[in-house]
Amino acid sequence: MYDFMLNAESIQWRDKAKKFVKNEVPRQMILDMDEDVIQYPTEYVKKLAEWNLLGLRFPKKWGGQGLDWVTETAVLEEIGLLPMSLGCLYSLPSICGEALDKFGTDAQKEKYLKPMLEGKKFTAEALTEPRGGSDFFGATSTAVKEGDQYILNGQKRFVVGAEGADFFLLYAKTDITAKNPRDSISLFIVEKDMGVESKYIYGLLGTRGGGAGRLFLKDVQVPEENLVLGEGKGGLIFYQMMIPERMTSAAGPLGMGRAALEIATKYAHKRKAFGHVIKNFQGVSFKLADSIMMLDAARAIVYQTARAIDSKQPGSICRRLVSEAKRFSTESANQIISNAMQVVGGIGYTNVFPLERMFRDIRLSTIWTGTSEVMNLIIQHEYFNELLKTEEVTRDVEMDAKESDAPEEKIYE
Ligand SMILES: Cc1cc2nc3c(=O)[nH]c(=O)nc-3n(C[C@H](O)[C@H](O)[C@H](O)COP(=O)(O)OP(=O)(O)OC[C@H]3O[C@@H](n4cnc5c(N)ncnc54)[C@H](O)[C@@H]3O)c2cc1C
Repeated sequence: MYDFMLNAESIQWRDKAKKFVKNEVPRQMILDMDEDVIQYPTEYVKKLAEWNLLGLRFPKKWGGQGLDWVTETAVLEEIGLLPMSLGCLYSLPSICGEALDKFGTDAQKEKYLKPMLEGKKFTAEALTEPRGGSDFFGATSTAVKEGDQYILNGQKRFVVGAEGADFFLLYAKTDITAKNPRDSISLFIVEKDMGVESKYIYGLLGTRGGGAGRLFLKDVQVPEENLVLGEGKGGLIFYQMMIPERMTSAAGPLGMGRAALEIATKYAHKRKAFGHVIKNFQGVSFKLADSIMMLDAARAIVYQTARAIDSKQPGSICRRLVSEAKRFSTESANQIISNAMQVVGGIGYTNVFPLERMFRDIRLSTIWTGTSEVMNLIIQHEYFNELLKTEEVTRDVEMDAKESDAPEEKIYE
C-alpha cells in the first residue's frame, strides 16, 4: 500500500527482499540464535550475497547494484521483520562498505569490498571501547607507525559480527597530541588473522547470535596499505559512515514495528473478553491506532531522509534528518512493540508469540549506533546552525504581537 512512495525498481528489490525473508531464513536458525546456540549465522550472510542483496548502493564494479537510499530503505524495512541481529548483519556491509567505497583505494576495494559483497569475506565495525561509545573522539586505542606498518594496541567492545568477521574497520588514535581530537584518529582495515583476539559476548538481553564480541589488540601489526584515506582522516570517514550506520538502524525498526502491530491487530480481531472481541474495546483499538500512526510517521521520516540523501542535500541537513529518523523510528518501534504486548496480554509475554523477543531486541535500537541523547545533540546543534545562519526571507512572525516593538521589554541578559 506504500508503493506510491517507491519507483518500479525499488518495488522490484523490495519484493525480492520480501521473498528472501519469507523463504530463506530458517525458523530454527532464529531460535538457535536467540538461545546463543548459533553465535554467528554464516550461511545467512552467504545467502544474502547469493541473492545480490548486500551493499545495494555500491557500484556494480565492486559487487553492488548502483541503487539509491530509498531502495535500500525499502529492503531494510523487509529485513527488519527478522530478529535484529540478522538486520544488523545485513547492514554491516552497507556501513563498512561506505568507508571502503567512498574513501578506499581500488586495491582496498578489490581486496575487501568486492569479496565482502560476494559473501566471501565477513566484516564488522569496531568503534566502541570499554571506556565509552558516545564520545567517539575520546578513543584510547592507538596505532603507532613503525616502518611500513602500524602497531595497534587497545580494546573494542560490543562489536557485532566479531565472531565471524575476517576483517574489521577499526578506529585508533594515530596522534594522541593532536590539538583537535578530530584530527587524532584514523581508520584501519584490520584482518582478524593479523592477531586480533575476539571473545563472544554472552548475556545480551536480546539481539543475540549476531557474533557480538570484545576485541583485544596487543601489538597487532597492520600494513600501511590498510590505512584508509590517510592519518587523521578518521573523523571525516566517521561522519560519512554514520549515515548508513543510523539509516540502517532507522529503517529496520519499521519492519519490526510493522510485524508486532500486525500480530497484535490479528489477535485483537479474534480474542474475546466480556463476550466481545477485544478490538471492540476502545482501550485496545486506540492503542492500535496510536501504533498505526507512529509507524506511518516513522516511515515518512525515514523515507524522507532517504530522499534527502539521494538528492544530495547539504551535509548538515542530512545529519539532522538522519538523527531524527534514527531516534523517531527506534523510539516509535519500542512503543509499538510494547503496545502490541499490552494488546495481546499475558500470552504476549511468553515465547508463544515472538513479541517478547522483539521487545528484548528492539530495546537496543535507541542505544546502539548513537543513543537517543546523542541524536538529540546533533538535531539541536544542526538546527541552531541552520536557523541562525539563514538570512530571513519569510515573514517576521515575532512582530505579529501587539507590543512586539517594545525593545525595553525584550531583555535577554
Ligand atoms: C549489543 C550491542 C551491539 C553493539 N554493536 C556495536 C558495533 O558493532 N560496533 C561498535 O563499535 N559499537 C557497538 N555497540 C556499542 C554502542 O554503539 C554503544 O553502546 C553506544 O554508542 C553507547 O555507548 P556506551 O554504551 O559506551 O554508553 P556511554 O557513551 O557511556 O553513554 C552512557 C549514557 O550517557 C549518555 N550520554 C553520553 N554522552 C552524552 C552527552 N554528551 N549528552 C547527553 N547524554 C550523553 C548516553 O546517551 C547514555 O545514556 C553495540 C552495543 C551493544 C549493546
